[in-house]
Amino acid sequence: MATTEKSDNLGDGIPRISILGVKVNRVDMTGTLDAITRFIASGTANMIVTADASMIAMAQDDADLKNIINEADLVTPDGSGIVKGAKILGTPLAQRVSGVDLAREMCRMSAEQGFSIYFLGAEPGVADAAAQNLSRTYPGMKIAGTHDGYFTPDRDSEIASLVKASGAQALLVAMGIPRQEKFIKRYMHDMGVCVAMGVGGSFDVFSGKVKRAPKWFQDHGLEWAYRLCKDPSKIKKVSVLPKFLMMVYKERLLGK
Ligand code: UDP
Repeated sequence: MATTEKSDNLGDGIPRISILGVKVNRVDMTGTLDAITRFIASGTANMIVTADASMIAMAQDDADLKNIINEADLVTPDGSGIVKGAKILGTPLAQRVSGVDLAREMCRMSAEQGFSIYFLGAEPGVADAAAQNLSRTYPGMKIAGTHDGYFTPDRDSEIASLVKASGAQALLVAMGIPRQEKFIKRYMHDMGVCVAMGVGGSFDVFSGKVKRAPKWFQDHGLEWAYRLCKDPSKIKKVSVLPKFLMMVYKERLLGK
């Protein structure tokens, strides 16, 4: 069989599959939220990756990114491309668990459970607007701090120190793939957070800067088409999807 399916040592026994050598957990939203509750209670650093087709394609040429995903404590299937790829390989996934939905759910959990979240990323002012909007939706949600994502890599350690000083228990990083994943991997054990996750363009959506695709597009696996119409510069990211599916078909044929 082209894919492996085994129990995950790190993700609390959540089963996982492999697509093009990249781990993806077979997990739904409820299972992911349960894992987050356990991560927060663990008191140690845990990394969640929300993997979409573009990330898995990118990981084929970026060994560092591939290792980061494979070593993550939980990898959720973010996007219809991954769900489709898993189906082609005969190891279907439960459902899509996108970064934007998960980030929102984490904010709801923060209000219910009392853990604090740091918002790092996006253009100046956007993370703060996103956090404020979400705290209006989820009164009682705890914002540990916010910072934009436009700083040079030589300031990474300084920014990680800010997160640590904030006392945040959870960290959302919206700086794009793979910068956000590499930042989290490098500093997760220095920041004092129990859970850290890259969330791509989510802060732009929460702040109101960018409108999310209507539900119909999401339900029909066409969110990418909506985004492309709204922002033609996304063509590079979207054009990876057919390439990804070709690679998946090849993996199924060659059985590796
Ligand atoms: N971004 C950032 N720092 C950078 C480059 C990008 O904070 O140096 C932000 C950008 O403003 C946007 C997010 O990262 O909010 C990336 O969004 P995109 O939809 O491109 O995410 P991806 O496709 O990588 O998931």
